[in-house]
Amino acid sequence: MKNIIYPGTFDPITNGHLDIAERASSLFDEVMIVIANNPRKNSLFTIDERIDLIDQSTAHLKNVHVSTTESLIVNFARENNSVALIRGLRSISDFEYEFQMALMNRSLAPEISTLFMMPDEKYMHLNSTVVKEIAALGGDISTYVPEVVNAALKSKLSK
Ligand code: ADP
Repeated sequence: MKNIIYPGTFDPITNGHLDIAERASSLFDEVMIVIANNPRKNSLFTIDERIDLIDQSTAHLKNVHVSTTESLIVNFARENNSVALIRGLRSISDFEYEFQMALMNRSLAPEISTLFMMPDEKYMHLNSTVVKEIAALGGDISTYVPEVVNAALKSKLSK
């Protein structure tokens, strides 16, 4: 059984995240989406809300699960016997940060590899921050996020 960790903030999950999760789910026995709980980051959705949105958005992927941790991702990966971390690469600008993080994680846990995947071109320009900004300004984000996320954003932003 090869299980892999897909870490991130997922505030909220977008179709770009989902694209990567789907690709990983076809390659590995189990994919664990892990919400890195970083109290220093200001999030729109609580951890429980993010878990719920990911659960609903990945219901069609039977080998994809969701969890959260406050500890280092490589420690979480070790505790769960994961073989690797998966990260999405959208652009050259993602590369430098991801490269540095992958090397640091390898230095902390040499047995855990980092794998990179590219999403479908239509999701290359997408990130959670942009989606939240468009939604806050009344724009249509229905092609960028799962329907449950679209509804959750509308309800959150109307409060
Ligand atoms: P963001 O706030 O930028 O969406 P996250 O921390 O939630 O970032 O992202 C978790 C992982 O998912 C990262 O590896 C990130 O590069 C990847 N990711 C985010 N959006 C996309 C996308 N549109 N296509 C591919 N990968 C993505």
